Amino acid sequence: MPRIAIIGAGITGVTSAYALSKLGYHVTVYDRQRYPAMETSYANGGQLSASNAEVWNSTATIMKGLRWLGRHNAPLLLNPRFSWHKYSWLAQFIGQIRNYRRNTIETTRLAIAARQHLYAMAEEEGIDFDLERRGILHIYHDAASFETARRANALLQEGGLERYAVSPEEARSIEPTLQTACHGGFYTPSDATGDIHKFTSGLARACERRGVRFAQDADIRNISLDGAPYVLDVVREGGTRREQHEADAIVVCAGAVSRQFARQLGDTLNIYPVKGYSISVHLDDAASQAAAPRVSLLDEAAKIVTSRLGDRFRVAGTAEFNGFNMDIRAERVQPLVDWTRKHFPGIRTSRVVPWCGLRPMTPSMMPRVGPGRRPGVFYNTGHGHLGWTLSAATAQMLAASVREGVGEA
Ligand SMILES: Cc1cc2nc3c(=O)[nH]c(=O)nc-3n(C[C@H](O)[C@H](O)[C@H](O)COP(=O)(O)OP(=O)(O)OC[C@H]3O[C@@H](n4cnc5c(N)ncnc54)[C@H](O)[C@@H]3O)c2cc1C
Repeated sequence: MPRIAIIGAGITGVTSAYALSKLGYHVTVYDRQRYPAMETSYANGGQLSASNAEVWNSTATIMKGLRWLGRHNAPLLLNPRFSWHKYSWLAQFIGQIRNYRRNTIETTRLAIAARQHLYAMAEEEGIDFDLERRGILHIYHDAASFETARRANALLQEGGLERYAVSPEEARSIEPTLQTACHGGFYTPSDATGDIHKFTSGLARACERRGVRFAQDADIRNISLDGAPYVLDVVREGGTRREQHEADAIVVCAGAVSRQFARQLGDTLNIYPVKGYSISVHLDDAASQAAAPRVSLLDEAAKIVTSRLGDRFRVAGTAEFNGFNMDIRAERVQPLVDWTRKHFPGIRTSRVVPWCGLRPMTPSMMPRVGPGRRPGVFYNTGHGHLGWTLSAATAQMLAASVREGVGEA
């Protein structure tokens, strides 16, 4: 039976492992962290959001981005220092404007398809991940952005999504804790939220029960390509041991690092690490719990998303083009705290845990799923700002591609 090595134990790697184990393959997942889901799949916005499927490749988004440049607390930050990776990625991003319509519709379809797989996995394996199926309310603060949103909404509807406009009063009745006024909103009843880290960790345990092996604290430094099988050069436990592991097929799910693996394996895969931040506000008292929304929100002007994860309120946003930088900067965290205080003044913000992560983003914002050039090489990566939403569907696509490429288990 072919031995399959998956590189990365984030949401894409673990859902891939699960789908492949269901087909009967012998799977080992490698990750440089001690536990699964410790990098971008750790504390994201929590939204399972077909309603956020609009790709960013549009002139309107670029104009908005340019207006934000230079404002230190803007939702978008670009470090102008030259890097070939960053500027070639941005050039390709602009080149993808022509595919805006097609890619938005395709992402919507993928996001809708993902839901049933995700819920089925959670139910079959008994995974508790603070799921809230109360929909997502997208709020707009001015007439112009609301009208622009109508055009995007038509594409989401074309992709099969039920999403409708609501008045400020209707928005307030959907989420009564919302304290500030808005111009209007769009509501998607079928969207949901949940804790990506709890889900991925729970699914990893389910994979182990099914016979999947996890090699954690295992940094893959090199893949030897001198004929079958592939040999992985693995550095264990912070460099204390070096091991060689054989695999007949490789699945790259390494998030923002996937580009480096693709280059080694002879493929071109342009992924840029687009940094984002979140805060988890701990709702320690009854008043804060009552003041925090349960319906997930997306504030268009601030580009902030929220989700209620049990007794935590997750607020996430910002897109930073600054390479592989993982510093948690106070001036990027503060707008998230300020936003919470402004819209939900009844929530105590005395215990706030900040986090940052790198969205693995392709210029088209579409994930790369399927075979590479070499036999036995596959990808399921590049999910950008929607990895939590899309992975359950792309894992199925990946598993079908592996079966076609290496044969039945
Ligand atoms: C602020 C923020 C908010 C977000 N909000 C949402 C949201 O609301 N909804 C949504 O759908 N998506 C959201 N996302 C996007 C989503 O979180 C990501 O798309 C997703 O987590 C990416 O998963 P991944 O498996 O590709 O990458 P990761 O989770 O980063 O997994 C990659 C793994 O590869 C491992 N790895 C890398 N290099 C090596 C190596 N050399 N050897 C061994 N292992 C290696 C890493 O340790 C890591 O565990 C958000 C992202 C951010 C940053």
